[in-house]
This record gives sequence, structure tokens and C-alpha cells, in this order.
Amino acid sequence: MANCKFCGEPAGFLRRSHKACKAGNAEGRKSVTALVQEFVSKPRHENITLLEKEITSIARNNHINVDKLKESVLEGWETAVENAFADDILDEQEEERLLAIQECFSLTQDELDQNESFTRVVKGAILRDVLNGNVPERLAIQGEMPFNLQKSESIIWLFQDVDYFTQKVQAVRVGETSGFSMRITKGLYYRTGSFQGRTIESTETVYVDNGTLGITDKHVYFSSPSTSFRIRLDKIVSFIPYEDGIGLHKDTNNAKPQTFITGDGWFTYNLIANAAQL
Ligand SMILES: [Zn+2]
Repeated sequence: MANCKFCGEPAGFLRRSHKACKAGNAEGRKSVTALVQEFVSKPRHENITLLEKEITSIARNNHINVDKLKESVLEGWETAVENAFADDILDEQEEERLLAIQECFSLTQDELDQNESFTRVVKGAILRDVLNGNVPERLAIQGEMPFNLQKSESIIWLFQDVDYFTQKVQAVRVGETSGFSMRITKGLYYRTGSFQGRTIESTETVYVDNGTLGITDKHVYFSSPSTSFRIRLDKIVSFIPYEDGIGLHKDTNNAKPQTFITGDGWFTYNLIANAAQL
């Protein structure tokens, strides 16, 4: 007769676990996920040690092993990130609580980024800085900077693997989002859903090259094997939002819109449009 894989006691004829142990384990894991989520969005208390105690005791009482416990905490963390961006941008408190959970349960950035949740938190923090009129100093560039920055210019973000297009026809559309937007202190923020369904149309564009797109507090830079240029943020007259990238239109008469596919229109648009207000 096998032992129950949860409590370790004899499980009964042809059984590998007690019904009650299995159900308790599943319930316990759900509670852990819910507690983590709740700690970020509307915590009953701000005490991470208390949360750790609650979770450890649930794990012990319901025979949740270390791996499964980590899974449940991760699930709560990811959902909490999603919720934090649902109606608004990630606020400072939410960010602090997310990082407290990361530290408390020794979760690595790789673990938290399996579904890009960690990246989303970093992006949210950068957008919050820019929307508040501050130049973020969160990006540490490893290796050589692909652009020759001016003195007193700060890099805010680098997009890798960006497809660059020019427009066949001039000024075909004006950049207006139809979705939800809100003013946050100084900036104008569009939430994720505003960008859905607006993709860059290949019939209207000519592919130029693939390269790196850099955003500073003064310019947009692009660098690829065949072309390199920079655009002054204050020379851009319209920002065209797409689900997968952005179109930029300069204020000269014959300028055609330049389009960049970054894979994340939400972040690209909010970042560049608001960096231009800095
Ligand atoms: Zn059992």
C-alpha cells in the first residue's frame, strides 16, 4: 500500500493520496495565491513578515512542498501585476509591495519574468517617472552604448530588434487613440487596451532595416547596419499609436512618418509621447 503523497501516511488500497489531503492542498495553494494578490492591491496590513508567517503556516498545514509553494506565490505575483495595470499605471506602493514579496520569497528576476511580468513592472516604474516629469535613472546599459549621446542627455530605454519602416504616402493618418486615457500629474497615459487592433499596415510602409531604438530625454535614436539617425523629441508633431509599435511624424513639410515595430505599442507610445513633454 502506498503512502499519501501529501501527509505521508498510508493512503489506502490503490490510492496515492487521501481525498482530504488532496483537496486541502489545492485549497491551500489557492489561498496562498490570493493572499499574495491581496497584499499588493488592498492589503489588510503592510507587514511582509506577517504575510510570510500566514503563508508558511498554510503551506505546512496543507502539505504544500517548496516548489508548489513557489509556484503559487509566483501566480499571485503575476496576477497582482496584471491587476495593478488594469485601470491605472502601477503606483509606487504597489511596486514596493511587489518587490517586498520578491525579496521575502527569494524569487529571481528570471522566475518573475517567465511571462514578462517583471519587465512590465520595470516599464511601469519608468513610465511613472516620465509621466511625473522626471527623467528615470533605472536603466543600466551593459556593454557599449550604440549611440553617441550628447552631454547632459540621459538614456531612458533601449528597444532591441526593432523593425524600421518609412511610409509610402505622406501623412496618411493622424495619431489619435480612441481608447481610455487619463491624466497623471503632468503626463497623459493610455492604458494597454487602447492600442488593441491597431497594427502597422505593411501595404502603406516600406521596410528599411532592423536595429536598436533608443529613447533619451531629448531624442529618439535609431541605429542599424544600413542607417543611423536621431530625431529631436521637440521636432515631432504627431505620435501614431499602434498595438505593436509607433509612428513618428516630424514637423518638416516633406517628412514622411517613420514607423518602428518594438513589439509593445503601449509602452513605446506612452514613453515617447511623454518623454517629449519633459
Ligand atoms: Zn494524506
